Amino acid sequence: MPDLGFACRCGELRGVVAEVSPADYTHIACHCADCRSAYTHLGLADPEKVEILQTAQDRIRITQGGENLRIMRLSPKGALRWYATCCDTPLFFTPTKARFVHVGVNADRLDDATEAGPVVAEAFIPAPDGKATHKGMPKMVGKMLVRMAAKNLNGHWKDSPFFEADGTTPTVTPKVLTREERAAALMGVGRT
Ligand SMILES: [Zn+2]
Ligand SMILES: [Zn+2]
Repeated sequence: MPDLGFACRCGELRGVVAEVSPADYTHIACHCADCRSAYTHLGLADPEKVEILQTAQDRIRITQGGENLRIMRLSPKGALRWYATCCDTPLFFTPTKARFVHVGVNADRLDDATEAGPVVAEAFIPAPDGKATHKGMPKMVGKMLVRMAAKNLNGHWKDSPFFEADGTTPTVTPKVLTREERAAALMGVGRT
């Protein structure tokens, strides 16, 4: 099975999504303000939607520059949003525990995003009435739960590069955005 390479914008941090076939991941696009504000907080343009390759944490191998990994949380209980501090590039999204297995890899960082195939699900698509709509969610969630069940059964949830052996301590101490920082990041997201 092939590896999908990824890198931060400056190329200091590199890695692979190892040995994956399309059955092992879901290529989605998320339009939510939180995913986009991870970019604006780092001083990047609002991407308007974030394409994400959802897979299992044990598929991720950081091959170089891992010392550049940092974590931001948009709120004290928020998910972990991993980025490269060498060039302020958002890279991954994980829940707060290795046992949840899930990781989202920002597809804009893949060496060749076309290898990930088409987007098969979309979340928080803005609608004219102001309410968001979703596409393909049941299948997306189903695949996430199947991965979680499988890795909890075979113990591979422990092979996460994102957490210490206890499965709950991230390898880097997260920085929680202040209310002001969060508000400023959301201001940068082009929606009212
Ligand atoms: Zn999102
Ligand atoms: Zn970099």
